[in-house]
Amino acid sequence: MSSIVRVCRLCKEPMKNSPFMMCPDCLIESDKVRSFIAKNPLVSLTEISQSTNVPHGKIREMVKLGISKKNSYGTGMQ
Ligand SMILES: [Zn+2]
Repeated sequence: MSSIVRVCRLCKEPMKNSPFMMCPDCLIESDKVRSFIAKNPLVSLTEISQSTNVPHGKIREMVKLGISKKNSYGTGMQ
């Protein structure tokens, strides 16, 4: 039995057994960012950061990981 330590995909903090790819903090933050982007698709990173209080670099990581695009909003506009 190997004990694999999961790390948060966003802040790289080690996590205890978690069903998620991110730690609770990052889950909350990515949720905020995601819903903000959903409402404001053309917004800049700086504006997202100011409105959600999530650090700039972290939002960039989220975008890189594709978090902001994960949801389908059911618009049928793709
Ligand atoms: Zn994290």
